[in-house]
Amino acid sequence: MANIVVDSRFDEVWSAFQRDIKSDDDAADALYQSFFESNQTICGCSVLNTSHKRGARFFTCHSCRADFWFTSGTALDGVVRLRAWLAAIFFKDHGFAISAARLARLVDVAPSTAQNIHKTLALVICDEMPETETVSASWFSQVIFKRSRQTPAECHPRVELLEQVTAHARVLSSEYPLDHAEDRSAEPNSSEIVRDFSLAPPNLKLAVAQFLGLISNEFHGISKKCLQLYLASFWCTVDRSRWAPGALLKACLSHAPIRYQQILNFVSPARVMIVLPPP
Ligand SMILES: [Zn+2]
Repeated sequence: MANIVVDSRFDEVWSAFQRDIKSDDDAADALYQSFFESNQTICGCSVLNTSHKRGARFFTCHSCRADFWFTSGTALDGVVRLRAWLAAIFFKDHGFAISAARLARLVDVAPSTAQNIHKTLALVICDEMPETETVSASWFSQVIFKRSRQTPAECHPRVELLEQVTAHARVLSSEYPLDHAEDRSAEPNSSEIVRDFSLAPPNLKLAVAQFLGLISNEFHGISKKCLQLYLASFWCTVDRSRWAPGALLKACLSHAPIRYQQILNFVSPARVMIVLPPP
């Protein structure tokens, strides 16, 4: 029953998007409209006297007679399938975390394009994460079974966790060489990790459980490399007041461009950030 309710709300949101934004031209018009409504004219002219051609990603200011490209220099810089990007943002605006495969099917883009959209948006959200709780990436080991560039050949993807825990232990033992001399083993101390989790406050435990549930249901499994990106998306999904409709688009438009290489090189740290859902 719960699933039917969730699915019908999802269908509602998706229908609303399809009704309003049918093409990349519609997407550009919607973006201009959001600029216009937020009085962001970029050029600094005090009188808002602009015009915009249908489907164009720039507007003309009649006061200074200049053209302004509204995605230029932002996280949406140079994107081709603008409708797909706005769809991904629209779903997040309404609290839905959907897989790249599902997004690709819905908006008819290549799975790699959908992955790129998701990861870029997650990096934008990551940069908005407040100083927050960091927890061991090992807490999420049960959903980590996708390989990444970081997974050593012929090893299970979870090996990435062990390698990072070991590296973390090495840092700790170099910081406390005398007191922790007995902890210098190269083997990760898994019982310590479990104890950490058992000592976690109930709201943190709940957030971890919700995140694991979301990943199992929609994404099935993730890589350790991208764990932090999924945790950022999770925050966006559950914190509906911080990420109210429009907030993510605004964050994208005030974020510097994110290059493919940055996405490729991103690796979640051994201790990842998790923002607790609002009470
Ligand atoms: Zn102007």
